[in-house]
Amino acid sequence: MIERFAWHDPNWHELIERKRSGRFPHALLFNGAGGTGKAQLALALSHALLCQNPAETGEACGQCKSCLLIEAGSHPDLLTLTLEEDAKDIKIAQVRELMSQLALTSQYDGYKIAIIWPAERMNINSANSLLKTLEEPADNTLLILVTAQPSRLLPTIRSRCQQINFTLPPHDMALQWLAEQRVEQAELLLALADGAPLLAAELGESEALEQRSTLFAAFKALNMGKNDPISVADIWGKSEPTTSLRWLMSWVMDMIRLRMGGSREMLANPDIEQDLQRLAEPLDLAEMFKRFDQIAESLRLSSATINQQLLLEETMMSWARNR
Ligand SMILES: [Zn+2]
Repeated sequence: MIERFAWHDPNWHELIERKRSGRFPHALLFNGAGGTGKAQLALALSHALLCQNPAETGEACGQCKSCLLIEAGSHPDLLTLTLEEDAKDIKIAQVRELMSQLALTSQYDGYKIAIIWPAERMNINSANSLLKTLEEPADNTLLILVTAQPSRLLPTIRSRCQQINFTLPPHDMALQWLAEQRVEQAELLLALADGAPLLAAELGESEALEQRSTLFAAFKALNMGKNDPISVADIWGKSEPTTSLRWLMSWVMDMIRLRMGGSREMLANPDIEQDLQRLAEPLDLAEMFKRFDQIAESLRLSSATINQQLLLEETMMSWARNR
């Protein structure tokens, strides 16, 4: 069976209820924080819709021909589209290919389903190509778009989808799941992942924590005047810039929280609370918000710019200049 996470129960029941009442749309938009398993729920839903003998509760039986094909990853009526390796966006050729397959008749006399994630990574041509299908959906087709950034989708796409909103899992439930996965330092990782359990597990498996320590040590040295912006940008350039800038943004956000009287529990980086407190001391709130905006802008540019090293240098110089 395709695993369904306990924290998705409310969304699951909502979807099954819609199915039962015959109010199922041609396109769904799963919207909510990344790293919480939305794409997984899209798969579980597809599984249930394609099952030839679903339970009263709407769950897939796990034994029929359709179920077996899905578990083998080879059901002809279930299509998935995501980024190709190392690609920055979902290409129009991919969308066209998907649409032409979706237009074929179902092989099992049921739904044809396409899941697209992360949907916001479709470029403008891809999105426009998809729009045509959304405007004239064929019978018994279902598109599920999965996104953590719905504002980056074309408004015309958003408006043609039924939105299903996902909230973050309750803290206890997320911790329990992480414990079941035997993730160490679960509390810290969950805080660093802003409460998203799958992201927390991923951070735990990668070298993210070590990288973060290296980046933070360099950033601290810059603030104490012990290192210069170019050397710090050099150290930072050894990690993936978008990830690094996300860390920086979360530190500054925590500095703002601390300045506003926030407690440790509210921080995304509770383990470096004292350091952040010290870094925040010389800055007033307006200055911190200004810097936060600058870093957000750098982050926005980081996925598009070719010269990421220069961007890091500029970010560090700007931070040091304002000190
Ligand atoms: Zn089945």
